[in-house]
Amino acid sequence: MADQHSHNLARRGLMFILSSPSGAGKTTVARRLLAEDGEIAMSVSVTTRPPRPGEVDGKDYHFVDRAEFARMVEDGEMLEWAEVFGNNYGTPKAHIKAGLKAGQDFLFDIDWQGTQQLYQRMETDVVRVFLLPPSIDELEDRLRGRGTDSEQVIEGRMSRARSEISHWDGYDFVVVNDDIDECFAKVRTILDAERMRRARQTGLVDFTRGLMRQDPGSA
Ligand code: 5GP
Repeated sequence: MADQHSHNLARRGLMFILSSPSGAGKTTVARRLLAEDGEIAMSVSVTTRPPRPGEVDGKDYHFVDRAEFARMVEDGEMLEWAEVFGNNYGTPKAHIKAGLKAGQDFLFDIDWQGTQQLYQRMETDVVRVFLLPPSIDELEDRLRGRGTDSEQVIEGRMSRARSEISHWDGYDFVVVNDDIDECFAKVRTILDAERMRRARQTGLVDFTRGLMRQDPGSA
């Protein structure tokens, strides 16, 4: 019996990039997407930054030292990489390329530099979504509310936030996060629509051929 699921045709996975200045809701939206959507997995980056309390190696990041990071770059194992807050961050290549081919979607929490690099290399696989805070005061409140960082770090993040915001025009979709539930719903809508792009649906050739073969009858 044909149910909803059987109409999910074979397709190539997509790279769903969610960027925002720190504190604009990216982490919350990303967590909900991963929890509620069974078809998307996090792209786990490699970083030289030390783990924060509670962060798990292999889940939040692959934590490596600078020598190992440099080796990975040198050996062409990164799809993209950038320096952020004095640490290096990069996307390991092999896992993502194999996954896309097998129809796996990936969620990326990377900055605008990484976004540009991924877009240059993998344009048709990339969907770029940028979240904005409703105001700069709101952003600062949210950063302070988190309570995990020192004043100096918060100041650094505020200045970084302003410069991140200046890259809004390098994204396909921009969502202002006034209300987290609404923002999340909008992000899901973007993901759902992008999955239906003709170019991604590799199963369409066979599917439409089958549809056209069906003879409606000559009555
Ligand atoms: P955090 O240290 O707070 O986890 O991340 C700092 C910044 O690095 C964030 O803006 C995050 O989006 C960015 N980032 C994390 N992973 C990657 C990556 O693999 N590539 C790039 N270009 N940026 C990343």
